[in-house]
Amino acid sequence: MELRKDPITRSWVITGDDIPDSARRAESFCRFCPDSREPPQLVANVSGIPGVPWSARAVVHPTALYHIEGEATRRGDGIYDRMRPIGAHEVLTENSSHDRHLWNASDAEIEQFLLLAAQRIQDLKRDGRFKYVSIYKDHGTSAGQEFDHPSSQLTATTFVPRRVLYELRAAREYFEAKERCVFCDIISQEIKQDLRVIEMRGDFIALCPYAPRVPYESWIMPRTHEAAFERFGMNRPGTMRDLGALLRRTLQRIRTITEDFHLVLHTSPNSLHRSGNLGYWKTIDEDYHWHIEIMPVLAAKAKSYTFKEVYYSPLSSETAVKRLRDASIEL
Ligand SMILES: [Zn+2]
Ligand SMILES: [Zn+2]
Ligand SMILES: [Zn+2]
Repeated sequence: MELRKDPITRSWVITGDDIPDSARRAESFCRFCPDSREPPQLVANVSGIPGVPWSARAVVHPTALYHIEGEATRRGDGIYDRMRPIGAHEVLTENSSHDRHLWNASDAEIEQFLLLAAQRIQDLKRDGRFKYVSIYKDHGTSAGQEFDHPSSQLTATTFVPRRVLYELRAAREYFEAKERCVFCDIISQEIKQDLRVIEMRGDFIALCPYAPRVPYESWIMPRTHEAAFERFGMNRPGTMRDLGALLRRTLQRIRTITEDFHLVLHTSPNSLHRSGNLGYWKTIDEDYHWHIEIMPVLAAKAKSYTFKEVYYSPLSSETAVKRLRDASIEL
């Protein structure tokens, strides 16, 4: 596999002829459970919950797309650019128990997972080769879930993923024009209008965005400005309990509609990598604002969303928020 850059959109894709590994078979056991017979390679543990072997842990992805050794060695190919898929690809197990997910675990357990995520991002950002660290979760068959064990995935890449790059450029332009953070402005307008706010908890807000890509799309953001999730998490660890609770409650609400969803954490890129031509680093701490995006997958509609060039969401956020707010959830 290799990375190739689309010269038109300037986005990197990972491509190649991936021959299915014949050794990959349906496993009768879970390799991510604490008693696994074939435990994956351990990267980091957090163990803040008494009485369990570990509360959340990072392991190397068993069939990693990116590999940590070597240099990306970006090369030209005529007008094109390509590079080796250097990076990190980890599975972040959210809980040691096989059936405790982000929507039914305790707030203390979810907090442990969020602290692990912050630690892993901070650690990987010390590696100057990596421009971005992504954390995401695909849950449910139609969302492309890979493992049964409650888990998210992490990739550290030598490029900034396309959607994040769009956000970084747009946030910087907004800041240049207004000297304000666009996300902070969104939050204050949403609180004032109160048309799309799902819930607020501690310093955090959950809302349906003004222009949703799919029905019930939901974002969770800190109300205090901060570009980097990991810095926020490490500097204010007490707040991660509130974030965990809001994440759990939001997922419970979404699960009254569909079980399948994509979740992604958007944080600032690696500022060790001061890319002159991207220029995003100059005002990054002021213009960008970390957040979590949740994209529910409504099975019957999945296709039309995937192949449409323009996102089509046949349900407004104002209507979606009413159903999410009224959903009956646990405490
Ligand atoms: Zn398991
Ligand atoms: Zn902000
Ligand atoms: Zn985002």
